[in-house]
Amino acid sequence: MNEGQINSSPKYSREFLRQLPKVELHRHLEGSLRLTTLVELARDLGIEIPPTEQQVIDDFLVTKPMKDLESVLKKFMRTQAVLSSEEILARITFEAIEDACHEGIRLLELRWAPFYIADGHPGLTPEKILRGIKMGLKMAQELPIAVGFISIVQRIHSLEEAEQVLQLTLDHRDFFVGIDLADNEVGFDPTHFEKIFSRAQAQDLPITIHAGEAPFAEASLNVKKSIELLGAQRIGHGLQIFRDPFIMSLVRQKGIPLELCPTSNWLTQSVPSLEAHPIRQLMEAGIPVTINSDDPGIFGIDLVHEYQVLSEIHHFTEAEFNNCNDVAAQASFIPRMQKQKFWPRPIHNLR
Ligand SMILES: [Zn+2]
Repeated sequence: MNEGQINSSPKYSREFLRQLPKVELHRHLEGSLRLTTLVELARDLGIEIPPTEQQVIDDFLVTKPMKDLESVLKKFMRTQAVLSSEEILARITFEAIEDACHEGIRLLELRWAPFYIADGHPGLTPEKILRGIKMGLKMAQELPIAVGFISIVQRIHSLEEAEQVLQLTLDHRDFFVGIDLADNEVGFDPTHFEKIFSRAQAQDLPITIHAGEAPFAEASLNVKKSIELLGAQRIGHGLQIFRDPFIMSLVRQKGIPLELCPTSNWLTQSVPSLEAHPIRQLMEAGIPVTINSDDPGIFGIDLVHEYQVLSEIHHFTEAEFNNCNDVAAQASFIPRMQKQKFWPRPIHNLR
């Protein structure tokens, strides 16, 4: 891109981007805590808090590129400690939905991993966690936003546990809109979970899979396997396919939307810089791309920040933002009536 194009690109204010109706398909509930809430809860639980705000940020958040994805996942363990009761889960759920409203999000999918939250809290069973989150959703029911929840199978854990997550999801189909496979991909092949996701497909449960995130040799192949063997209807991240024209054309032909999260991808070093993110290349190649924040609480960002990044660095136009959002509105697993109630434009091929 030459300088002339950069100069002629429109610039949008944060307020303009905030007011743009948006869809968030990829946001982890456990990664969406307000920093003020995190500090307050940690203090209540007797967890030591560093004396200065900067030290708190350094201790709990990821605001600079980490060595690799695994070290970022380790940071999550710091926030995990405060998720210790149904009431706390209700509070953080309500606040996550309220924050999304303030960001101009009209359709919000929040995902969470039952065993990640339960870990280290012996009294907190997946059923109790679910009850707390449902309570938070109820507290937010008057807000002008459609919300759907996705359960997460952790690829670093056992098949037995994966089976339990699937069962919980199937037992609460009125609550969950889909299921996901997450965590560090390196060394954890998607095919290991084929049986779990075949069962999900047989039950008509919508599937999204974290794949093709970190830049390692099998990244693109993981996207292919996730689509062909696990039945993924959307891919979490998937950005590494830009290296593989064959898999790019497979994703394009099948019309599988990618849930891209630029700042997350930079902080986990999936891309060396925000400038190097392949989002525009993928979009211009005809891949359905959507814009997401992943873990706004952990990264100290919000979805509006991601729009600022794309506007300022990748020169996204209002029309391109709207198109990404219409793609996301269509791809959202939230039931059709609920989606259309909050989305300003017609959603085609409604689920
Ligand atoms: Zn994610």
